[in-house]
Amino acid sequence: MTNQQNIRNFCIIAHIDHGKSTLADRMLEITKTVEARKMKEQLLDTMDLERERGITIKLQPVRMKYSSSGKDYTLNLIDTPGHVDFSYEVSRSLAAVEGAVLLVDATKGVQAQTVANLYQAVGQDLEIIPVVNKIDLPNADIQKTKKEIVHLLGSDPDEIIEASGKTGQGVPEILERIVKKVQSPKGAPEKPLRALIFDSKYDSYKGVLAFVKIIDGSVKAEDKLKTLGTRQISTVIEVGYFVPNFLKQANLATGEIGYVATGFKTVEDCRVGDTITLTTAQGEVDPLPGYKVVKPMVYASLYPTEGDAYNFMRDSLGKLKLNDAAFTFEPESNQALGRGFRCGFLGLLHLEIIQERLKREFGLEPVITTPSVVYQVTQNNGEKNEIFSALEMPDPSTIERIEEPFVKLDLISPAKYLGQIMELMNSTRAQYKNTEYLDAERIILTFEAPLTDVIIDLHDKLKSATSGFASMNYELSNYRASDLVKLDILVAGEKIDAFSRIIPRERAFAEGKATVEKLKNAIPRQNFQVALQAAIGGKIIARETIKAFRKDVTAKLYGGDVTRKRKLLEKQKKGKKKLTNISRVEIPGSAFLAVLRK
Ligand code: GDP
Ligand code: MG
Repeated sequence: MTNQQNIRNFCIIAHIDHGKSTLADRMLEITKTVEARKMKEQLLDTMDLERERGITIKLQPVRMKYSSSGKDYTLNLIDTPGHVDFSYEVSRSLAAVEGAVLLVDATKGVQAQTVANLYQAVGQDLEIIPVVNKIDLPNADIQKTKKEIVHLLGSDPDEIIEASGKTGQGVPEILERIVKKVQSPKGAPEKPLRALIFDSKYDSYKGVLAFVKIIDGSVKAEDKLKTLGTRQISTVIEVGYFVPNFLKQANLATGEIGYVATGFKTVEDCRVGDTITLTTAQGEVDPLPGYKVVKPMVYASLYPTEGDAYNFMRDSLGKLKLNDAAFTFEPESNQALGRGFRCGFLGLLHLEIIQERLKREFGLEPVITTPSVVYQVTQNNGEKNEIFSALEMPDPSTIERIEEPFVKLDLISPAKYLGQIMELMNSTRAQYKNTEYLDAERIILTFEAPLTDVIIDLHDKLKSATSGFASMNYELSNYRASDLVKLDILVAGEKIDAFSRIIPRERAFAEGKATVEKLKNAIPRQNFQVALQAAIGGKIIARETIKAFRKDVTAKLYGGDVTRKRKLLEKQKKGKKKLTNISRVEIPGSAFLAVLRK
């Protein structure tokens, strides 16, 4: 049984790559949570995808035991992602804890997500523990980094801990500070259960596992639970906590972070942000504030490549959604592509991750339409509609006004790159608003920009314009009218819906030309000549041609072994079946991706 007074719940927050997961490793070692022989780098990045890419995608809780001045403490740490596309993971984690360790890389200084995540933590009234990290590196500038943190937090520079997640220096000091400064969770053990669901996961044996913070009361196996939002009832199968694997326990008490195997089968029954109570609770139990519903930034449609995969894909998307609260999907159908799903994402990295997870976890490789933000289209008859993809765009002659989402964009950079940044921003439709100095050499630039100009490739361009030193963050502000057109792509005279997109009129020519050029390289030669055209309305604005040719797969065979030749040709035929066959010309999945990428 844990004493509530001795529980400390905290997150580690930082800009991407500033060392959150590595610091967590050292904490796991010091507290002997993970056996030395099982220790590996960034242990809390449990997904294969996270390990391969070296980034954290999912929040990950872990419980540790720690002794200080003769007292035993329970520490619940939640490691969080740093990339802007996964900020919803951060905000949900922050609502489950009382403190946050704010890491700043001493070689990089304060960056855009440092500021964004810090403001979120301050908004939740958390105790902030500032740490300058990576002090082992020769180019670490500890004093300058401290100054930037002081500018942000108004804290005493002597209170900022100097640490290295690599060497472990300063890590015991961080743990001590957590024990001293972070408050124990408040909650009332004698009250009826109130548990906040901050994440969830599907388990094929136990159904939906809800990741919870117990605010009041306690919960154990066999309890009859009730969700206050969705009003569903079920019997608890099991409870436990994270080490970081699931470890079954007799019960979860007030202030603890753990999981409840709910017995629910679907996402709809067990929503992230909902409150769990027990059916035996007397009187009114107030739901917890939960989370604001996140709105997707971009939409793209996913269509199964084989018609019979539709139901399987729907179930798979449902399971992914359980583990990714920011992802949304709903069925839609389309003449050319058949039945599929309109999916909402927080950004293009999010889309890429979902696409990769569908492939790895479910073996699905759907056709993906060009990602699009949501436009608001007003027609001449006064009708106003939300448009999720270029396909839904009404006839241009009926349109009075198209509005698109704008964001407030913050760029943080060493001041010496000001010229390069302004040059880059001038090539977009962004409008400059403000400059603020973090210190003499570091600036925060604020712009207002159309969301599309920001999400597609601004991050990459900013990185290359500033040798990797600038970073960015953005949030939606409002909708504004813009001069936009629908660009269509025709392959062998047929319009390929998946390639249509809405773009600013002034960019139509350049983009139309670039797209047909890309397709020329991405679509294999056919037995006949193939025209590639870009068009606005009925007007062709760019054209390329793919010459006729059959790839001779038997070319490398010499001699007259006819059976081997035939086998190879058979194989080629089979391979072709797998390609996405939506026009007379077979367009490989890679061509869709090539067009998406800039
Ligand atoms: P996260 O994105 O904030 O979770 O960052 P990671 O923990 O994944 O670390 C990003 C990179 O920085 C990895 O290559 C780590 O090995 C490296 N790193 C993390 N902490 C330190 C440190 O204290 N010193 C040094 N030299 N490298 C570090
Ligand atoms: Mg990480």
